[in-house]
Amino acid sequence: MKRIAVLTSGGDAPGMNAAIRAVVRTGIYKGWEVYGVQHGYQGLISGDIRPLGNRDVGGIIQQGGTILGSARCPDFETLEGRQKAIDQLKQRGISALVVIGGNGSQTGAYELNRMGFPVVGVASTIDNDLFGSDITIGVDTALNIALEAIDRLKVTASSHHRAFLVEVMGRKCGYLALMSGIAGGAEAIVIPEIEIHPEDIASEIRRAYERGKAHALIVVAEGAKYNAQALADYFKQHQERLGFDVRTTTLGHVQRGGAPGAYDRILATRLGAGATDAIAREETGVLVGMIRGQITTTPYSDVVGQQKPLDLSLLDLSKSLEQ
Ligand code: ADP
Repeated sequence: MKRIAVLTSGGDAPGMNAAIRAVVRTGIYKGWEVYGVQHGYQGLISGDIRPLGNRDVGGIIQQGGTILGSARCPDFETLEGRQKAIDQLKQRGISALVVIGGNGSQTGAYELNRMGFPVVGVASTIDNDLFGSDITIGVDTALNIALEAIDRLKVTASSHHRAFLVEVMGRKCGYLALMSGIAGGAEAIVIPEIEIHPEDIASEIRRAYERGKAHALIVVAEGAKYNAQALADYFKQHQERLGFDVRTTTLGHVQRGGAPGAYDRILATRLGAGATDAIAREETGVLVGMIRGQITTTPYSDVVGQQKPLDLSLLDLSKSLEQ
């Protein structure tokens, strides 16, 4: 009888619950026992670990967040912290761990694996900045939430001929901003990958008004050098010369909390099942992701420290549509 554990770590993402459910149910289907770790690596170190049955993961596929809780855990970044975690797992006879999380969490998982404990990762972050998966759990839902907000802001912006800055999440990755900007028909998109000066944004806004637009909506990634606050401060300082003022909306954590859409539920289910399949094959030290529509494993040594490139041709596409 094999015994495995599952945890969620780092930023929560809609669909994490569907992934937990898939790990538990496909694990039990294989004849294993599955344990859940509360609060990510924190619970692993303190031993907050309990068996999960099929009924424990009933009715959660449609819920955002994570029933296991998540945490950021500095102790896990130390060798002693990770050794305590391994001791907790071994004491319970657990022989493999599934880590559902983003970049930081998978880096921690890689370190644990390098210490000799078998780990399989499941690619889950709304930032979509994880190498080894074209798209990660939570991105699609977060994108749709951002889009709904953008659509609404456009309505009010048009009524008042206003310029709006909308800041979306994504850490150092511009994926959410780029995609929500294209899907929302933004007048300009600001991403960390391409540095742009506030004067260039001001020109975009002016040109939008000159073309007869009733509004100007700029989508800004939180990780851009000039984030929404920095742009707003600059425009306020030069308001007289520029001839317009802007309103700023930061979507922040609202983007995380939604119920997962169909895409994320299915992706999370497939990746969670992919994780137990990998353990069954004794293929550990890998991240389970989706590449070109296929459930794929990528060795942690290839995943960690890699920068996933953003398709910048989409930024050119968005520019050609800003007319
Ligand atoms: P995310 O997984 O969403 O990117 P974080 O970057 O906050 O979230 O990372 C989550 C947790 O992963 C951290 O609190 C820490 O416990 C662990 N972690 C991150 N980087 C490392 C590392 N280099 N070594 C060990 N653990 C790490």
